[in-house]
Amino acid sequence: AQPILKNFIRDIVAEDLATGKHSKIITRFPPEPNGYLHIGHAKSIVLNFTIARDYNGQCNLRFDDTNPEKESLEYIESIQRDVQWLGFDWGDNLYYASDYFDVLHDYAVELIMAGKAYVCDLSPEEIRSYRGTLTEAGKNSPWRERSVEENRALFARMVAGEFSPGEKVLRAKIDMASPNITMRDPVIYRIAAVPHHRAGDTWKVYPMYDFTHPLSDAQEGVTHSLCTLEFEDHRPLYNWLIENLNTPATPRQIEFARLNLTYTVMSKRKLLRLVTEGHVDSWDDPRMITISGMRRRGYPAEAIIDFCQRIGVAKRDSMVDFALLEHCVRTALNKTALRFMGVLDPIKVVIENYDSSSEEYLCGVNNPENEADGTRDIPFCRELYIERSDFMEDPPKKFFRLAPGREVRLRYAYFITCTDVRKDESGKVVEIRATYDPATKGGNAPDGRKVKGTIHWVSARHSVDATVRLYETLFSAENPDKAAEDGKDFTAHINPNSRTTVSAKVEPALLKLGGGKTFQFERLGYFIADEHDSSPENLVLNRTATLRDTWAK
Ligand code: ATP
Ligand code: MG
Ligand code: MG
Repeated sequence: AQPILKNFIRDIVAEDLATGKHSKIITRFPPEPNGYLHIGHAKSIVLNFTIARDYNGQCNLRFDDTNPEKESLEYIESIQRDVQWLGFDWGDNLYYASDYFDVLHDYAVELIMAGKAYVCDLSPEEIRSYRGTLTEAGKNSPWRERSVEENRALFARMVAGEFSPGEKVLRAKIDMASPNITMRDPVIYRIAAVPHHRAGDTWKVYPMYDFTHPLSDAQEGVTHSLCTLEFEDHRPLYNWLIENLNTPATPRQIEFARLNLTYTVMSKRKLLRLVTEGHVDSWDDPRMITISGMRRRGYPAEAIIDFCQRIGVAKRDSMVDFALLEHCVRTALNKTALRFMGVLDPIKVVIENYDSSSEEYLCGVNNPENEADGTRDIPFCRELYIERSDFMEDPPKKFFRLAPGREVRLRYAYFITCTDVRKDESGKVVEIRATYDPATKGGNAPDGRKVKGTIHWVSARHSVDATVRLYETLFSAENPDKAAEDGKDFTAHINPNSRTTVSAKVEPALLKLGGGKTFQFERLGYFIADEHDSSPENLVLNRTATLRDTWAK
């Protein structure tokens, strides 16, 4: 396949193939199973999998599961489901860092034997203070000069579970005076008396991320290990481990800018807090920018991929406008979504000159963007519902919808003229009386008379009740993290109106639409039946997006 995109990482890959440095490219997507994937992960997934696809290479899915305290099978399963739903396939190349626990242990011993790692008895706080700062060199640990034999024996006892967490760690012996703090004798193994979700209670020590990652990459023959910019400072350590150990391959780490999006937070730690503190219902709450939340909201996978490709891959962090994501969603859905009519805030209209015992079916176009989607029959009778906001008793001049004495077009049906209203004791209009012009069937008057407004409607007798959830952004601050700098927690910026629920009346044809398909209610936006809460007996719809595109190019 032809590469469709250009970015600096693709340039490196193309060059490495052209010069023969590599004959096959291997990338990997390495999530830690400590939460659900979000739109930031989608950027990494799209980058890694499309490079592998476009250069006839391979992309591994590797679970970076070395922190058993925070990881679970639920997360492992959701991650696989989300990657597949986005349309990517790791084939046989599913790996777990925990599968390398033996190999990693042996590498640690190899470092010890070479005099390049030592067991350190400093407490975590002491390690931190000995490490120094950006402007101040670190201090050597008093345990740094232990003999190879002593380190070998102590590490074996750590592995055997003879010490408690925090009592000892294994550190690489690099350089406490390095200007790069990551190189100041980083911890590579810690003690944790926690069973692992895959390895059981075999291990009493667990390798650190910085140790595990390069060696797992090397184990799998990864050629290009793509990670976000905050790991730039870790690259010397990545290379140090690859150079100082006898690894089967020499992977190269390349950093790119992580995705930040307005009106949301992006780290799993914060998303987890939103769930556990009850700010949202679950990880897949449609207000979450998790992949599962976006799926449940009705975002097509195609739109998420389009978004990830449009934002590109750069070496400098930036903030992407949420409106661009919605723009991609609308662009995809405009082409594919079937159109229906639904009324979110219904008010009844009685057509006085339409026989109450009659009904008829009018022809609606399913998708003006795709003729192959055909047409459907829409029931019409004496009593209808229209949107309350499409009627005003005392309208301004520019209001082109229904008002006493004014005529509008009912989409796909007839012109109607409002003749009267009925009110309750409080004076609120509860019913609109109207007449229709039988000659305007289909929406045009044979006498050439024009109406300015066309409104949507449903037949009262045939319509189906639906609960509709309308969403706004989860946060009201454009950057909840930055807004939190004034001392408030990011949760202080949660939008209290992020979800509202209304009782709607919708076209019966909707019941025939299969689940999992996002559709359009004309004039109102895109919607999808909720994947958990909706059934044919009890429709629950999520609004995916309104029709109004606010993306400014
Ligand atoms: P978080 O900070 O949200 O917890 P993480 O980086 O800790 O994310 P991992 O599971 O370690 O999550 O990430 C798996 C891969 O996804 C990594 O290669 C990481 O660089 C990438 N990734 C995570 N967040 C983003 C983001 N916002 N933009 C681009 N890539 C990301
Ligand atoms: Mg992480
Ligand atoms: Mg992180």
